[in-house]
Amino acid sequence: MSGGHDGSPQEPKWPANPYFGQPWDAPAVEGARQAPTPVGKPCAWCGVPVADGDQGFLVGCARRDDAGKIYGTVEPFHRECQLRSVIGSPAHLDGGCSCHGGQDDRRPQNPQEKRAEAIEVWDRVLAGQF
Ligand SMILES: [Zn+2]
Ligand SMILES: [Zn+2]
Repeated sequence: MSGGHDGSPQEPKWPANPYFGQPWDAPAVEGARQAPTPVGKPCAWCGVPVADGDQGFLVGCARRDDAGKIYGTVEPFHRECQLRSVIGSPAHLDGGCSCHGGQDDRRPQNPQEKRAEAIEVWDRVLAGQF
């Protein structure tokens, strides 16, 4: 990519989230910092620990501890899970879910199913099915 950025330069309002894994072709990756892959840390979306070779982002989250105090933390999202968290479930994208008047409100029952669902959404988006 030659990156012919012309026009006035714009500073992002927030620093871009660092990504981990091999860079891939996405606007959010361009110009972002590459972080070491947080192997073994659970993905904030699906809960499956990040494995060596996974790709995703490190995202700042606000959490509440047992005493009710809010603290900031940085958690990994698989790139597929990040996309899934933004665009919705396969049933939603197919228009079969209850918010479209349908019945298809299946939900993943465990982290592996959640991860598999996110990968299904990712693959179908890349295949242009939505
Ligand atoms: Zn995930
Ligand atoms: Zn829906």
